[in-house]
Amino acid sequence: MTTDSALPESFTVVEHPLIQHKLTLMRRVDTPTTKFRQLLREISLLLGYEVTRGLKLDTVEIETPLETMNAPILEGKKLCIVSILRAGNGLLDGMLDLIPNARVGHVGLYRDHETLEPVEYYFKMPENLGERDVIVVDPMLATGNSAIAAVERLKRAGASRMGFLCLLAAPEGVRAFAEAHPDVPIFTAALDRELNENGYIMPGLGDAGDRMYGTK
Ligand code: URA
Repeated sequence: MTTDSALPESFTVVEHPLIQHKLTLMRRVDTPTTKFRQLLREISLLLGYEVTRGLKLDTVEIETPLETMNAPILEGKKLCIVSILRAGNGLLDGMLDLIPNARVGHVGLYRDHETLEPVEYYFKMPENLGERDVIVVDPMLATGNSAIAAVERLKRAGASRMGFLCLLAAPEGVRAFAEAHPDVPIFTAALDRELNENGYIMPGLGDAGDRMYGTK
């Protein structure tokens, strides 16, 4: 795991070899949809391990076959995973395998073609966001516009402890996000070179939603 000195302190690349290997398979243009989805799910398990490192534990009294003990247990219901639609659902599935008791929220945003501003079309969250640790998931941190808008909206809805998890990040998106939300750490599997003129991450993996769902 590294942090790049030219990038904000709140930014972490999780460099585990299994993650890097699986990401390479995902990037390949000839990787089919089913394989792409499977790899994304597997990577989200591995990224989830890092992003949940700071979660609080309760203690519960249990019986082992030999004696009673006080054992650590996650406050699973206090956690909320928020998927930015639609590609966020790919990371969400793996995170839910890891933490099945987590609550789930969804944010839908599209970009207005005239103003280029993100417009919200869906927002559904569990109650008491302010009491929860919130992990916002979206595979691609490109311009950062949707991630920034989603986190702003979540803050207005009361969320205060948040982290942002993506698969690939562009330096432009990382800087914009960290400037808008310095209090929200970013975790990713890789930092790519740049955005191209169409807002795609280079070298990237293409459109994550299209590759997950076989659309164009
Ligand atoms: N969204 C994607 O799906 N891919 C990119 O490269 C950038 C944004």
